[in-house]
Amino acid sequence: MVIVTHRWPTLVGMLRTVALLSLVGLASQGGEARAASLMFRAYGEAEGLSSSNGRCFAQVPTGYILVCSDEGVFAYDGRRFDNLGPAQGLDQGVVEDIQLAGNGRVAIRYPDELFVSDQPVTTERSPTALSFKRVDLHDPSLFNRSTRQLAAYADGFAIIVGRATMRVVFSSTGEAMLRTLDLSAADEETLAGPSALFAAAGGLWETFDDGRICSARPVRCFGERQGLSKEPWSDVVAGAGGTVLARSVRSLATIDPRSGSVVEEALPFQGGPYVEFPALLGLFRSPSGGLLTQSAHGLIERGPDGWRELGTSDGVPEGPIAASLVDGDGQLWIDVYGGGVFRGLDIGLWENFAHDDGLSKGDAWQVVGSERTSLWVSTDAAVDELRRVDGRLRVVKVLDSPSFGLAEGPDGRIWSDASASGALAIDRSTGGIEDIPLPPVTRLAADAGHMWFGTKIGLFHADYQGGIWGKPVADGSCGRVNGLVSDQQGGAWLLCNGRLWHRHADGRLLRIGGIWPSKEFYPLDLWPTGVNRLWLAGAGGLFDATVLDDRLVATTPVAPEDLQTSEIVAVTVDHRGWLWVGTDRGLSVFDGRRWLSRRSSNGLLWDDLSESGIHEDPDGSMWIGTGRGLSHVVDPAGLFVQRPMRIVISEAALGSTAILSGRTGYSVAPLQLRFGVLSFAAEQSATFRYRLSGVDEGWAESSSGFTRYPGIPPGHHVLTVVGFDPLTHTTSAPVTMTIDMDYPWWRSGWMETLYAVVAVALLYATVRARDRAVERRQLAKQRELQDLVEERTCEMRMAQAELRRLATLDALTGLLTRREVQTRLEADLASGAAVDAMLVAMVDIDHFKQINDRYGHLGGDEVLRAIGARVTGLLREDEYAGRYGGEELMVVLDKRDGHGAEHLSRLHRFIRETPFEIGGGAVTVTCSIGSTSISSSDDWTSLVGRADAALYEAKSSGRDRIVERGALARTSVVDVRSRVA
Ligand code: GH3
Ligand code: MG
Ligand code: MG
Repeated sequence: MVIVTHRWPTLVGMLRTVALLSLVGLASQGGEARAASLMFRAYGEAEGLSSSNGRCFAQVPTGYILVCSDEGVFAYDGRRFDNLGPAQGLDQGVVEDIQLAGNGRVAIRYPDELFVSDQPVTTERSPTALSFKRVDLHDPSLFNRSTRQLAAYADGFAIIVGRATMRVVFSSTGEAMLRTLDLSAADEETLAGPSALFAAAGGLWETFDDGRICSARPVRCFGERQGLSKEPWSDVVAGAGGTVLARSVRSLATIDPRSGSVVEEALPFQGGPYVEFPALLGLFRSPSGGLLTQSAHGLIERGPDGWRELGTSDGVPEGPIAASLVDGDGQLWIDVYGGGVFRGLDIGLWENFAHDDGLSKGDAWQVVGSERTSLWVSTDAAVDELRRVDGRLRVVKVLDSPSFGLAEGPDGRIWSDASASGALAIDRSTGGIEDIPLPPVTRLAADAGHMWFGTKIGLFHADYQGGIWGKPVADGSCGRVNGLVSDQQGGAWLLCNGRLWHRHADGRLLRIGGIWPSKEFYPLDLWPTGVNRLWLAGAGGLFDATVLDDRLVATTPVAPEDLQTSEIVAVTVDHRGWLWVGTDRGLSVFDGRRWLSRRSSNGLLWDDLSESGIHEDPDGSMWIGTGRGLSHVVDPAGLFVQRPMRIVISEAALGSTAILSGRTGYSVAPLQLRFGVLSFAAEQSATFRYRLSGVDEGWAESSSGFTRYPGIPPGHHVLTVVGFDPLTHTTSAPVTMTIDMDYPWWRSGWMETLYAVVAVALLYATVRARDRAVERRQLAKQRELQDLVEERTCEMRMAQAELRRLATLDALTGLLTRREVQTRLEADLASGAAVDAMLVAMVDIDHFKQINDRYGHLGGDEVLRAIGARVTGLLREDEYAGRYGGEELMVVLDKRDGHGAEHLSRLHRFIRETPFEIGGGAVTVTCSIGSTSISSSDDWTSLVGRADAALYEAKSSGRDRIVERGALARTSVVDVRSRVA
């Protein structure tokens, strides 16, 4: 937070009034000033218009503009002028007139010939796709060579041939034929020798060399007797309320056929080339719906306030105007004989005021005031005052000093920075100038009680109370002020060194912290929309900013596609609540519902707009400062008048052959397409999105309107084209064209059938051959697989058996586990195989602890392993042995034939007679054995008990011996059990 208390003492008290002396160069410039200019676009060679001698205009119902010239007819599609000629069955010489019949047929009149189109113009059929036929005029030598000899009449045409008026009608087959216009003999006499022919007010009108103007059916003439001047009447058109208007070189006549009244008025601003070429004179509609006609220096328009000139000084192209037309979208077309074709850019919506029009310098920075009273503009050369004089905007005063910042003070004076030593206040009525010393001023703003001065070092203000100014005082040194606006609360918002500051009404000047839109954003203008909200515009975009407790808490950007750019230099909200945004690419406006942009292609003077350069005139119109002068949006609502956007496929050709929607022969030639936009206000900004089904996967885009496919496959295709105007965000209705391309001879009819048969046969053979090979391969593979499975299964089985076997053996001794011995013994007991056939012996190593003590447990293990091996080697078939636990073994031996005792002693000897090799030494091991024979009543427990008892006896009787227990000796069972447990 910075509160600057420092003041610049040198500035205090320097406020002084400077009398009119310092008013430099203040002079009336009215005499030299020119009017505000209208913008026209010239069409010429670049657009394909090779003739500059235009003679007439027509707009066909689908929107194309037709121009007749010395070199034939041209059709314009918003991109190019196409010359209609031999390809359409036409001549290429001088064309006098083009008329459109109610049925859509087009008639073109050459000096001695008449051509009528075979087809009406439709949305599918562009003018270049029309074909024309010559109409037999019977005796062309009688042709009246003056202009305006052709008029649309009753679904056909009327034409002057010789001294007679004829009709062009259509036969049942559509052929154009010449017929006489049915009139009574008396009427024929009356209407003999017409000079020109017009379709007006629902009827046919003719002019005559004797000055008469007559309607043909019913025949009614107006001449000298009816009060009409005797002079050549050049044009006759429908007026308001069933009247007919006619113009001559000097005057305009209004004829009311019902009352028979004739009113004639002299036209202002007349003269010039039309005196010699009165036939060029015409009556046209103006863009605002008024009447438009030629004047000595351009055009004059009759509006509610009378006639006003739209002369060459207003930007109307120089030269004799042969024809004019207001198209369906209100665009004014002018055909300048010898000068070419021009279109006025949204005339009626805009007025521009540039250096050529009297502005002291092209760069128009800021605007204040109103043209109704006085309008002030700061430029690089001066501060200009503009006023409307005789309907024209003129510079009436100039203060010769470059200026940027401009404001209208609460005292009604115009405040400017046009002073190296501070600010200036100009008294509008006296021209008196007051010099207010301050550091160099960069921006100015005002509210009811203050003037705010943004300077190179910070903000200053001067209070205005009761009609008295206080001394200017410093608010703080925030740096260079590059944006300043009243906050409408007695304070001001300002941009200082590229940051947002708020000078509160209580005097605090605070830098606004918080969330800056982006690191790159540099603000250039701002506009408050509420106590806590404002628009921030600058390099990097336009943001709706919310400030709470002197911190930016939200900055919502406007989408760049709505503004076409992110370089924003000016922002203003008008009394309607519309947002006006100046950018480096023109003007953008938001009416609360939609955005639209305007550029120099739409009538804006220049696309590079000035910083803080948008000003709302109290009359609601808008003033826009640009790098080339001022643009005035006279009719802001007119900007938002929505007109449907019309586009066309103006040309489709396979190679050099033009094609129409529908069937077409097989061709490998490239498909060339041309699209046009018949909404001419959008002709330069429109782009096209198109897609050819069966060829394109997605949409393609073209801004030129020309596109080319290297070739398309035969079959059914649909071309869809949609136009888009990024400036108005308008999308056209889609336009489609079908292309049903025939298949070539080798792909049609019986050839297709033949192909199919051959293809099926080939396919069958191939499939068969392939199947056999596959079968063979599959069988081999199957066998291989089978072998592999078997192998693996075998291995697995072996592995499983081994695992099972290993599970029954004791890991150390290699003898059976105790559980396995029990299992086998119980099995032998159950089967009876063991009874009286086997004996069970428990073997315990004597003093094994001592072996462990002497040779370690590993040495003990060695002995146990060796004992296991010896026992295993000793066993015969059906005999088995297991490790009962520790160094105790259980052995089941065959005792049949009385060999039991012999087997036991052999076992005993086998262990004790051969010493065991342990760690290099030999160890003699003895063992004690207790054995018992098996009876039919024995089970595992009884056997273990008796054998163990016998072993105990062997131990206790001195070890290293064998003790046998009979099957019936059960006396020591209890003892044995206690030991086992
Ligand atoms: P006796 O003649 O009374 O049987 O004397 P002994 O030392 O053999 O005494 P006893 O049978 O009570 O002790 C058996 C010893 O055998 C105890 C134990 O340390 C040892 N022993 C048991 N199982 C193993 C074995 O798997 N490896 C080794 N190294 N020693 C074992
Ligand atoms: Mg033991
Ligand atoms: Mg022992």
